[in-house]
Amino acid sequence: TSNKKKRILEKAEANGVKFVRLQFVDILGIIKNVAIPIEQLSNALDGEIMFDGSSIEGFSRIQESDMYLRPDPKTFAIFPWKSGEGSIARLMCDIYTPAGNPYIGCPRTALKKVEEEAEEMGFSMCAGPEPEFFLFKKDENGNPTTNTNDKGGYFDLSPVDLGEEARRDIVLALQKMGFEVEASHHEVASGQHEIDFKYEPALHTADNIATFKFVTKTIAMQHDLHATFMPKPIYGINGSGMHIHQSLFRNGENAFYDPEDQLGLSDIAYYYIGGLLKYAPEYTAITNPTINSYKRLVAGYEAPVYISWSATNRSALARVPSSRGVSTRVELRSPDPSANPYLAMAVTLKAGIQGIKDKIDPGSQTLKNIYKMTSEERDELGIKSLPENIMDAVNSLRGSQLMKETLGNHIFDRFIRAKEMEWSEYNIQVHDWELNRYLLNY
Ligand code: GLN
Ligand code: MG
Ligand code: MG
Ligand code: MG
Repeated sequence: TSNKKKRILEKAEANGVKFVRLQFVDILGIIKNVAIPIEQLSNALDGEIMFDGSSIEGFSRIQESDMYLRPDPKTFAIFPWKSGEGSIARLMCDIYTPAGNPYIGCPRTALKKVEEEAEEMGFSMCAGPEPEFFLFKKDENGNPTTNTNDKGGYFDLSPVDLGEEARRDIVLALQKMGFEVEASHHEVASGQHEIDFKYEPALHTADNIATFKFVTKTIAMQHDLHATFMPKPIYGINGSGMHIHQSLFRNGENAFYDPEDQLGLSDIAYYYIGGLLKYAPEYTAITNPTINSYKRLVAGYEAPVYISWSATNRSALARVPSSRGVSTRVELRSPDPSANPYLAMAVTLKAGIQGIKDKIDPGSQTLKNIYKMTSEERDELGIKSLPENIMDAVNSLRGSQLMKETLGNHIFDRFIRAKEMEWSEYNIQVHDWELNRYLLNY
C-alpha cells in the first residue's frame, strides 16, 4: 500500500492537483464529499480524515457521529475540468468507525460483503449499466425546467439534437477519467440521452455510476443545462431507466455460458435468473427507490411491469441479450438511475446467488409481448407484477429476511424509515391532477 500511496502522491503532484474530494454515498445514493487541500492527501490515504456523520441522511446518531473515511486507492482520478486554482482529484471512500471497523451504514461495504459471499462460491460478478437521463433547459433564474433542449429521437443526429454537444463533452470527460465508454446516443424521448460504459466488477461499476452522475451533472451545467436522473420527469413519454447487465465469472470464464444448452445458457444462468425473478418484489424498493420510480414502471414505455424473463422480447424484467461466450449475460431492466448503485448491485447479486444456492427454476421464458396479454393470460402463465408503488415495494422489502441480511439491520431500518416518511409526506399533498379532475366536477 505504501507503494500505491507513493504513486498517487506523485501523480497528484505531476498533475498540479490542489484539492482532493473524498467521496462516498449516503444510504439514499446521494454522493457526498469532504474536500481536502493537497497537503492532507497523505493523511487521507492513511485513513485519518474524520468527518461528522450525524448530519448525513441515514448515518449515525449524534452520540457516535465521528466517522473516518478510508479511500480506495484504485479509485484515484483527476477531474478533467479545472477550478481557478489547479486540478481537482477524487477518491472513493469506505466509511470506518473510530474503533477502526467498517461502518455498518456504508453502502460500499454492503456491496463488498455480497461480493465476498459470491467469491466464496467461486464467482465474481461483472456488471455493465445503461444509465439514461434527461437534459433540461434552465429558466431565466437558473432553475431547472422540464423543457427539453431538443426535438431529437432514438439515435438521431444533430442538428436536431442540441444536447449532443453536451453529451459529447460528458463522454470526453468520462474517458479522461478512465471510463471505457461503449456507446452514447440520443434516447427515445426528446431531451433524453444514454451513455453506456464497459462492464467491470460490480464494485468498480457502482463507483463508476456514482462518478458518472456527478460528471454528467457538472458538464451539463457548463452547457447551461440541467441533467436529471429522476426516473420519470414527464408524463406520457419514456422515463429513464438504468438497465444492468450482469454476469458471473468462474476461473476466468463466463459461468452463464453453456454451448450444449438449447439457448446457450448454463444451469448457473438459469438459477441466477430464477433468483432475480423470485426476489424481484423484495429488492425493487432498492432498485427503484423513489415515488417517481413507479411512474416509469408502467406499460407502454419500454419499462418492465411484469416479473418474467425472455431471450427475445424487451417487455420482460430479465432479458438475455443474444451474444454468447464471454459476453453471455442477463440484462435486468427494472433498475432506474435514482437507485443507490452500491445497494442496487448488492441486492440483485444477492438475489442471483441465492437462486444458485437454492437451484431456483426461472420457469420457461415468455416469448410473447406481455404488455399485450390480458390479465387472464398472465395469470395462466403465472406472471406476477412488480410492486405498483414505493409503499408496496417497501412492504415487500420489510418482510424479506434475505434483503435484511444483505443490507444489514442498520441500512435496512434506515432505508425503510426514510421511505415511509417520503410516502406519508407525498400522500397528504394535493396534486395538480386532482385539481384538474375534481375541482369543477364536485
Ligand atoms: N427508457 C426505457 C426505460 O425506461 C428503456 C428504453 C431502451 O433503452 N430501449 O427503461
Ligand atoms: Mg441501451
Ligand atoms: Mg436505453
Ligand atoms: Mg438495455
